[in-house]
Amino acid sequence: MAYDDQNIFAKILRGEIPCDKVYENDHALAFRDIAPQAPVHVLVIPKGRYVSMADFSANASDAEMAALLRAVGKVARDAGVEDTGYRILANHGPDSRQEVPHLHIHVFGGRDMGGMIPQS
Ligand code: 5GP
Repeated sequence: MAYDDQNIFAKILRGEIPCDKVYENDHALAFRDIAPQAPVHVLVIPKGRYVSMADFSANASDAEMAALLRAVGKVARDAGVEDTGYRILANHGPDSRQEVPHLHIHVFGGRDMGGMIPQS
């Protein structure tokens, strides 16, 4: 799938629409989800133009990959959920119901997350 420069996270990265930023490094940006599904619900995205984890894992540089994962760890630490626990999740493609075609890692925490995969 080709990258769509009009996707909502591309607009956030360009500063065309606002976000509630919690962290940023050279290659990654983290901001609160607009419709949180847990007390802590942060999205961590690469600054580069990557559609999904499939695209990112195949095409991103080692520096971009390291920056994204380090951002995930930092976000969880700063949110205070490292001891209580948290879940990370990245949707890719139709079966996962990925909505925004720019790679994003969800960080959920602040409550019991329940079972890993819903059955329906
Ligand atoms: P997906 O289903 O693609 O894994 O998740 C997309 C996420 O992006 C959803 O949790 C949704 O609430 C969030 N989202 C969609 N539009 C916006 C927005 O404009 N700002 C922020 N902060 N989050 C958004």
